[in-house]
Amino acid sequence: MGLVVQKYGGSSVADAEGIKRVAKRIVEAKKNGHQVVAVVSAMGDTTDELIDLAEQVSPIPAGRELDMLLTAGERISMALLAMAIKNLGHSAQSFTGSQAGVITDSVHNKARIIDVTPGRIRDSLDEGNIAIVAGFQGVSQDTKDITTLGRGGSDTTAVALAAALDAEVCEIYTDVDGVFTADPRVVKKARKIDWISFEDMLELASSGSKVLLHRCVEYARRYNIPIHVRSSFSGLPGTWVSSESIEQGDKQVEQAIISGVAHDTSEAKVTVVGVPDKPGEAATIFRTIADAQINLDMIVQNVSAASTGLTDISFTLPKSEGRKALDALEKNKAGIGFDSLRYDDQIGKISLVGAGMKTNPGVTADFFKALSDAGVNIELISTSEIRISVVTRADDVPEAVRAVHTAFGLDSDSDEAVVYGGTGR
Ligand code: ADP
Ligand code: ASP
Ligand code: MG
Repeated sequence: MGLVVQKYGGSSVADAEGIKRVAKRIVEAKKNGHQVVAVVSAMGDTTDELIDLAEQVSPIPAGRELDMLLTAGERISMALLAMAIKNLGHSAQSFTGSQAGVITDSVHNKARIIDVTPGRIRDSLDEGNIAIVAGFQGVSQDTKDITTLGRGGSDTTAVALAAALDAEVCEIYTDVDGVFTADPRVVKKARKIDWISFEDMLELASSGSKVLLHRCVEYARRYNIPIHVRSSFSGLPGTWVSSESIEQGDKQVEQAIISGVAHDTSEAKVTVVGVPDKPGEAATIFRTIADAQINLDMIVQNVSAASTGLTDISFTLPKSEGRKALDALEKNKAGIGFDSLRYDDQIGKISLVGAGMKTNPGVTADFFKALSDAGVNIELISTSEIRISVVTRADDVPEAVRAVHTAFGLDSDSDEAVVYGGTGR
């Protein structure tokens, strides 16, 4: 029996009952002969509540202090979970990210893990303990300040520890029974996926399926760590995310042509209006954005109006970065030479993902047809080899997701997808 890393999301440890339930499950794994490392998120919506609180005292809270505040959420869960396990007669020790050896760069609020040195975790396991680790946090190699890994970052902590400790598997426990063909909160007929490749999962995750964070999937692919996404409420087998497909009964699970539909309403669109249509303009705009440490998603440049020699450039980015991007562009207005900026945070993105797209030429046409049948207007389009994404009005998103899900034959004909907990916030 090897070592397993289990990660429990906020909805699984939302209250004292939840923590006791999770403690029992961890002890079960230990009794089955595993060494267990459990990574925990903050209880319920604690992180959102702490952010709200910070914004009440300062509209743009200082990054370093915000990290200090947010990491407190995970510390509460880890200590309570260790107490609950001890109460069941087993030994457990909790560790902050820093104590667990999660070393990051120094970019506050979205630090990247650059090394994991889990010596203390290893020692604790060797002494017979269950090790509990606070997710979503680390310590900067340079500044020694406490950092956080970006929203949903406990997933990454879990996979990074699994890689560093050479775990058999990384189990991600959440409030649904696995990865579905669409978000079960939006599509009741979403179907549970038994196995999905790292590639398709990476596209789903980066297109908004927050059941797994894209950085965590990236990490798992790089170190070839199989992930098992499952519910902490039901105990049913969930979804395997790995490079090799799994066997079920006596048959091998096939890669689907289309893995699923993802949606994302967390982005906004910035349009830079009246940009001189000459070489170097785009470079200056996007250098300005990059220097502000902002990651973009889609970019489009409109056809230039010949009479004016001006063009518009639009891009999408996380809403949380909107203010920062506008400020950075405004500051550099003279250097770039544009007329004005427009900001639209009422957009949504719908993406269709599947490796089978590469060899099925009709997929794009069918996708657009499904959207038009649902009366949904497309504002931006972007594609990769295994994904098509469109931007629409935010209000259209739920209907559009359901329409596309049905059009591609993804609707389940048996059970409705169950959501066990969480507020979906
Ligand atoms: P946790 O608190 O456990 O980290 P999250 O809220 O981050 O949980 O992720 C689980 C949620 O992800 C589900 O409740 C579901 O609403 C959402 N979700 C979005 N897309 C999918 C999908 N394709 N399959 C399953 N869940 C999804
Ligand atoms: N608590 C953090 C968040 O809500 C990290 C996580 O849950 O993964 O984003
Ligand atoms: Mg999550």
